[in-house]
Amino acid sequence: MEQKKNIKDFTLEELESYIVQNKLPKFRAGQIFEWIYKDVESFDQMTNLPKDLVNKLKQELYIGRAAIEVKLVSKEDKTRKYLLKLEDGNAVECVLMEYSYGKTICISTQVGCRMNCAFCASAIGGLTRHMTSGEMLEEVMAVSRDIGERISNIVLMGTGEPFDNYKEVIKFLRTVNNQKGMNVGQRHITISTSGLVPKILEFAEEELQCTLAISLHAADNPTRNTLMPINKKYRIEELMDACRQYIKKTNRRITFEYALIKDINDSEESAYKLSNLLRGMLCHVNLIPINKVEEKVFEKANKTAIDKFKSILEGNGIEATVRRELGSDINAACGQLRQQYGV
Ligand code: SAH
Repeated sequence: MEQKKNIKDFTLEELESYIVQNKLPKFRAGQIFEWIYKDVESFDQMTNLPKDLVNKLKQELYIGRAAIEVKLVSKEDKTRKYLLKLEDGNAVECVLMEYSYGKTICISTQVGCRMNCAFCASAIGGLTRHMTSGEMLEEVMAVSRDIGERISNIVLMGTGEPFDNYKEVIKFLRTVNNQKGMNVGQRHITISTSGLVPKILEFAEEELQCTLAISLHAADNPTRNTLMPINKKYRIEELMDACRQYIKKTNRRITFEYALIKDINDSEESAYKLSNLLRGMLCHVNLIPINKVEEKVFEKANKTAIDKFKSILEGNGIEATVRRELGSDINAACGQLRQQYGV
């Protein structure tokens, strides 16, 4: 017998063609889709479907779920960190943060990562496998189930490089946005990349209103080469060129992420270099005091350096914010939980 498929891996359109192929009326697909994202556990709960359709679904499909393996709740700021166990036993992390505008979940897009950034805990152990769109949807659903509330904002900034798993990530974005499903607004979704140039250009053509974030972390090639190996493939000039094309095509503002690391990229000279790179661009800079990862040598820039860096950018007409640090008492950042639990 053919292996059962996870129904959460179907877009609404894919579900429609499945239904039509089975010579059933197309509207059944919409009904099934709605039930899935109301988070039913079994096909038997889909009470408006004919019995033989329910039986067919049961035979051919299953409703994929992830189990909460570990949950940590910050005493400082209510940030929650989850380690979710996928069906094949692999585990991924996601984080729920509370902001004034609502709850934001940071999800993983791959089990592990192959970008190998020097400061990032997710790089340790390399890439195990890509995640499916259904597994990404289930990250949002599992956490929403746990808190008993809808999640309004999503950032793809957990473990993995979203553009290294492009097809599934795009499928996830479209499905999570579907009004019949979770209906998370595209403008409430941010996708972050280490700079896969061809995919940035492809993403510009998707007609999605999501925010694109670029992990820049350095404004010159030698420094970026030491921090992010991807820079050896797509250098800063090429990356900035792709960003300009993206802005031209979409008219959307890009967020540049810049993790400030003591004595590596936090000097005034670095701030001027970054200003020169971004001047006149439709963008915003997110300055992130780097999170110390045990296995790595990098230190956080000090407060004076961070403030100075920010004021230089602003002096050059570049909007910048310093990202608030959340959940530091629960190791909330960047792949740290998987390491700790050895999965
Ligand atoms: N692969 C994607 C998305 C996941 S990483 C990307 O590179 O953008 C999400 C963000 O966290 C990236 O900006 C990444 O550079 C940053 N990051 C990774 N490790 C970090 C650390 N130790 N401290 C601060 N930011 C970190």
